[in-house]
Amino acid sequence: MHLPRAAMLLAGVLAAAAPMLQAGAKDAAPPATAANAPPRLIVAISVDQFSADLFARYRRHFTQGLARLQDGAVFPSGYQSHAATETCPGHSTILTGVRPARSGIIANEWTDQSIAQADKRVYCAEDETNPASSPDRPVVSARHLNARTLGDRLKARDPASRNVAVSYKDRTVVMMGGHTIDAGYWWRPGGFVSFEGIPVGPAAQAANRTANALVAKGAPAMAVPSWCAGMSRAVDAGGTSVGEGRFQLERGKAAGFTVSPRVDAAVANLAIALVDEQQLGRDAATDVLSVGLSATDTIGHTFGPGGLEMCIQMAELDKTVGRMLAALDARRLDYMVVLTADHGGFDVVERQRQQAYPRAVRGDSSLTAEELGKYAAQMTGISAPSGRLVYGDGMFGDRYISRQISAAERARVSDVLVARLKSHPQVAAVFTARELAATPLPSGSPQDWSLKDRARASFDPQRSGDLVVLLDRGVMPIAAGSRGYVSTHGSPWDYDRRVPILFWRRGMTGFEQPAPIETVDIAPTLAALLRLDTTDGDFDGRCLDLDGGPGNSCEVQP
Ligand code: ZN
Repeated sequence: MHLPRAAMLLAGVLAAAAPMLQAGAKDAAPPATAANAPPRLIVAISVDQFSADLFARYRRHFTQGLARLQDGAVFPSGYQSHAATETCPGHSTILTGVRPARSGIIANEWTDQSIAQADKRVYCAEDETNPASSPDRPVVSARHLNARTLGDRLKARDPASRNVAVSYKDRTVVMMGGHTIDAGYWWRPGGFVSFEGIPVGPAAQAANRTANALVAKGAPAMAVPSWCAGMSRAVDAGGTSVGEGRFQLERGKAAGFTVSPRVDAAVANLAIALVDEQQLGRDAATDVLSVGLSATDTIGHTFGPGGLEMCIQMAELDKTVGRMLAALDARRLDYMVVLTADHGGFDVVERQRQQAYPRAVRGDSSLTAEELGKYAAQMTGISAPSGRLVYGDGMFGDRYISRQISAAERARVSDVLVARLKSHPQVAAVFTARELAATPLPSGSPQDWSLKDRARASFDPQRSGDLVVLLDRGVMPIAAGSRGYVSTHGSPWDYDRRVPILFWRRGMTGFEQPAPIETVDIAPTLAALLRLDTTDGDFDGRCLDLDGGPGNSCEVQP
């Protein structure tokens, strides 16, 4: 059972007094546990938009937390193997071990024409059946996640296991934590909040006071590491100048907090405080702490991942992860870390074109669902009573044809759209739901999958569109003239699919395995270490042997 709070505090004081436990020291003595005993705490860190390309570019500069994790098992070619490389699907794979085709989390948002809301949009982490839910303030829920997370499995085995998740983003908390979260916090304007009706605990209240005081006071521009020097160069990204930002926080301007490394620091601080508040890692029932660090993503979207801003963020991320690990060390916890990402990213078109990638282009706004609907209406003369013939989000992904017209009319609209899309120079592929439903679930190395395989891995016949549209390599699905939101992800290409996967535990034999693996391999790997009862077919991924020597961590004795 968990220690009483007084005993826990005493243990913390003793640990802090022990001279050998210099915070962050790489050679601090491990806690006394059997070499192959299950760790008492799993710390699952997702760095939103941390592509394998960013890891490759910056890994030699890391000296803190991300340096230590590189002493563990390093998989530089992890795959979010599906086509819909967005935040919800990506996070849903990490601790469930199943792909979006099985978890049902096919996109950040999808269309459900049976719901009452006029736009027919469903947000992945929303209970849209709750009348209090709205697009601005969704009632956060895991009801759409058709899979169990590692935390769910541990709690089902032993209710003493704790399942805690914290992030800037609600969807990260839900997709990594799952259905049985003991404490879950995400950011809303003004501070960290939790599920409907769950009061914000003391740790989060303190975090909110600190964050709000920082925003009120402001902060100077951040230091530029020597290895970022020379990167400061302005690029006009469609009317927004990027490439010189240093994250000065103007007094009272919250965006300077949420689009900056500071938001990761706040999430990490809250995660550490929750280790104490929730007494994580202190008994034989293994706990899970999921930490979603989102600043890499907010910075990537606002400035692009290829400039000075991201260089500074990488340095700050390294420090933030280092502080988290040092805090766990100071508490003498036996923990295992896995760090990965929900998807990769692609730099702003204008900088790509300056840097030897002339095929980078902005997407054609005639590809939006709305424009496609107008085109189909014009070509067929068919109209829907609602006024919308085609539903969907942005320039790619799922396209849904109105259910208010007859099956024959829908078939005609579908044919017109397929012909239009297949002849468009920015479209790499368009698949019908029927085609994808007839495609077997992919296997083998994800780097060799066809586009259809990738689309199949995030296809759910209950939720996916009548058509799935994939844009060509190098097409940024942000129209010219958009300001402030300069780059994004979501494509089936490897710049969006490849992410690093790093495992670290004190005392483990490190190794680097360059062969591709998948993020769905993480859950079965941890399940084996934790001796969870699983059966064939529970996961889409496979157990990775983390032993690094002749032993095999996938074959541990119960
Ligand atoms: Zn994301």
